[in-house]
Amino acid sequence: TFTGSSVIVIGAGISGISAAKVLAENGVEDLVILEATDRIGGRIRKEEFGDLFVEIGAGWIQGVGGKESNPVWDLAAKSGLRTCYSDYSNARFNIYDRSGKIFPSNLATDSYNRAVENAIRELRNQEAKLHGVSAESEPSSTPSSPIELAIDFILHDFEMAEVEPIATYTDLGEREFLVADERGYDMLLHKMAEGFLISKDGKIVDDRLKLNKVVREVHYSRNCVTVRTEDDCIYNAKYLILSVSLGVLQSDLITFSPSLPKWKTEAISKLDVIVYTKIFLKFPYKFWPSGPGTEFFLYAHEKRGFYTFWQHMENAYPDSNILVVTLTNEESKRVESQSDEETMKEAISCLRDMFGPNIPDASHILVPKWWNNRFQRGSYSNYPMFATQHDFTDVKAPVGPIFFSGEHTSERFNGYVHGGYLSGIDTSKALLEETRKEKEEKSDSGLFL
Ligand code: FAD
Repeated sequence: TFTGSSVIVIGAGISGISAAKVLAENGVEDLVILEATDRIGGRIRKEEFGDLFVEIGAGWIQGVGGKESNPVWDLAAKSGLRTCYSDYSNARFNIYDRSGKIFPSNLATDSYNRAVENAIRELRNQEAKLHGVSAESEPSSTPSSPIELAIDFILHDFEMAEVEPIATYTDLGEREFLVADERGYDMLLHKMAEGFLISKDGKIVDDRLKLNKVVREVHYSRNCVTVRTEDDCIYNAKYLILSVSLGVLQSDLITFSPSLPKWKTEAISKLDVIVYTKIFLKFPYKFWPSGPGTEFFLYAHEKRGFYTFWQHMENAYPDSNILVVTLTNEESKRVESQSDEETMKEAISCLRDMFGPNIPDASHILVPKWWNNRFQRGSYSNYPMFATQHDFTDVKAPVGPIFFSGEHTSERFNGYVHGGYLSGIDTSKALLEETRKEKEEKSDSGLFL
């Protein structure tokens, strides 16, 4: 006879918690959640900075106001999460050159429109190449001037990072809200887990949730899973829900025995992981413009992505004197490998270019390290243009008793908080369906569930 739990969930991010909740609500009470860190939330994570908390992971609820409601927006409304409307389309009118001059808005608009046309041409040409047909449009041009590079950066690393059309915006809506709540974005998870894993005052009250449990080995057969953690604990179950990030799946943190099949590992390695880093800087006083239309500004440098995208936090936290600069991919990896002092020096020299030599030094800096975090290995998944529906199906498909969950398994909303949330629900529903079928087949055994 089998001893152990029905289900082990690896990871207590929004996907793992939503998966566990659906299981518990459907009568699967004997589950265990193993989380590598000392907290729940995963990439929804606040950190103390100066005298307040800032969101070093997910910061926005994206996709609001459309034909379909965003479940995370609904959760936020129910739990009274404080948010503020955020519109970074104004960034293109606040582009500074290295001598501190703002590009005139007509010039910026022209450059922006040209870049959009260019990007669309590039997408069409790539698509044509992919399908082996000759390109219909003239080749796209390569951005070279600082203003073109800055616009190219916001277009490609932000707006068009995903293959269009983006279901988050087409289905859930164009609006975006910045979470600005001292209790943190992760309050949503606490609310979800309240009365289930966590008490009203945020204490873990349920020993099914186990923190500081780093899973290193997964042994599986057709109908049983054994998991070993770094501190040599062994857990058995009938099923496993694996909600670790795509970056972790691409790394060697967890070994599988037998190895995962080739179709699975190939699909996992085909998808991209984006590194996205929000660097927080706190100053003794404000020296940047504030008021309507100023929240976002760009720095046009001859190196693409070099401290390009800036945001002030006046709307979220008035008088906090905090600026945030966002880096991506190679620039993120570069700053992760240097000291925070060096990063501070670089950031301040960009600000001195924009606002003059007399601006003060920052009193605090916070540089999140998502790439070097072995429980993340990046910020979120991205499906490259050449990825097919088949790749997506393979990333998500179960292997024996192992069910895969997490934002990267969400067909419509990968990369987002709501993608993680919905993927947990989908995965648990698929698992419950599997157990129902199994029960039907062995209706007389009475072994399980
Ligand atoms: P995770 O939250 O990563 O949960 C997986 C859990 O597994 C983690 O807690 C991890 O510690 C744990 N784990 C990993 N390895 C092991 C192991 N071996 N053993 C046990 N546990 C393990 N989304 C938005 O919608 N809006 C945004 O503005 C936004 N901005 C972002 C900015 C940044 C910097 C980042 C990093 C992400 C951002 N996202 C944003 C994406 C969003 O945060 C994620 O899509 C979502 O939180 C993923 O949830 P998840 O449950 O799939 O994964």
